[in-house]
Amino acid sequence: MSEPAEYDVAIVGASLAGCTAATLFGRAGRSVALIESHPDIKAYKKLCTTLIQPCATPTIHRLGLDIRIEAAGGLRTHSALHTRWGWAVPPVDDDVFGYDIRREKLDPMMRVLAAETPGVDLLMGQRARKVLTTDGRITGVATEGEEGSTREIRARLVVGADGRSSPVAKMAGVGARTVKKHGRFGYMAFFRNLELPYPKRALLWLLEPDVAFTLPHDDGFQLAALMATKDKLPAFKANLEDSFYTFFEAVPDFPKLDPANQASPIIGLMDHPNLWRSKPPPGMAFIGDAAVSADPLWGVGCGWAMQGGEWLVESTKAAFGSDAELDDAVGNYRKVLRSRLGGHFFLISDYSTGRGFNPIEKLMFSAATRDTEFARHTFKFGARTIPVHEFLAPSKVAKAIRINLRHRKEPSLVPAGK
Ligand SMILES: Cc1cc2nc3c(=O)[nH]c(=O)nc-3n(C[C@H](O)[C@H](O)[C@H](O)COP(=O)(O)OP(=O)(O)OC[C@H]3O[C@@H](n4cnc5c(N)ncnc54)[C@H](O)[C@@H]3O)c2cc1C
Repeated sequence: MSEPAEYDVAIVGASLAGCTAATLFGRAGRSVALIESHPDIKAYKKLCTTLIQPCATPTIHRLGLDIRIEAAGGLRTHSALHTRWGWAVPPVDDDVFGYDIRREKLDPMMRVLAAETPGVDLLMGQRARKVLTTDGRITGVATEGEEGSTREIRARLVVGADGRSSPVAKMAGVGARTVKKHGRFGYMAFFRNLELPYPKRALLWLLEPDVAFTLPHDDGFQLAALMATKDKLPAFKANLEDSFYTFFEAVPDFPKLDPANQASPIIGLMDHPNLWRSKPPPGMAFIGDAAVSADPLWGVGCGWAMQGGEWLVESTKAAFGSDAELDDAVGNYRKVLRSRLGGHFFLISDYSTGRGFNPIEKLMFSAATRDTEFARHTFKFGARTIPVHEFLAPSKVAKAIRINLRHRKEPSLVPAGK
């Protein structure tokens, strides 16, 4: 074993959360070991539809990643939603947009960004095997290289950015709370030449209880995806290809899928419990999926991974004076995480069970279909740029009731965005 290396921060996991935090810690003058088990800088997460919600756009801009995403063909994205009441299509707001770019491009791009940052050592092909402790405090990680060599990396702060199963959390004895039972499986594949009803938008069909998606991506790729309740899984899996194609035939306005245009294998997700990780021991913090991992139906995890990385750095970057100061700063970060994501996480978890709409969802989604301004309000919520209490403010609920009452009297009102 070589001499232990000393850093301010050791981050385990060089994906969206880890690379964001490493880049911003490095820019703040902190020394960072960014530890990634994959040996290849081009490795990427395959099972991700990668709609990055507008909530993360300020972080992307701050990182300077927007320029790289757009140079690589990534798209500024707006959304539209189909429910039993028809399409809700908010007006295009040039200042509020998300991004669509395949992980094949995004993950390596973020690693390069981090590795180019002074103070950051990107250590590819190093798997964290053990957390190091001193008097009950986490003080580093032991890693193992591809060829079996081991090393110790000592750090004032160890950050778990190693995904929803977070091996380092397990090594530190930290569990995750599961919120609500996850009730839908999912499948996705890339296509080309789909004739979409709103070509430049991410489209979501809420079919009560199943769900369909199409997302425009870089290089002319378009993603088709579905989520359906788990009772359908055995029959679906028995003839996967047929089931996948047949599912979309019943979806209103869904483009006809042609196998000749299929550009990737169909891959799937069988289960995805909503996880919120418990308090870490002193000297440790979690970001990204390792901290909070919600149902992918609403496409929030990538954005939250980047935002969480930024919030951790903002809370802790100037707090390395003493261990107590650092622990307080990690506590503050956890408060930010709870206040920014807690409400969203709860609602997402609740809908992930596979249920249909509740009365408040019926009210808000129907109003969004019937009124363009209300569609804008609803989409700010879906983009996670406003908190739950603002989305469901009494004035907004009253407005939704008024819109629906008016619609009852004048049913010929034109749907939003048409
Ligand atoms: C089917 C599906 C669809 C999704 N679609 C969307 C979407 O449209 N929009 C959206 O915003 N989110 C989506 N998500 C969620 C999104 O993929 C995750 O939230 C996001 O990848 C989390 O990023 P992360 O950096 O926290 O973790 P990850 O991307 O999971 O990365 C963890 C990293 O840690 C590394 N690692 C793990 N263990 C170790 C170890 N012991 N030592 C060193 N390194 C290690 C891994 O190799 C990996 O690089 C989807 C998820 C699924 C499953």
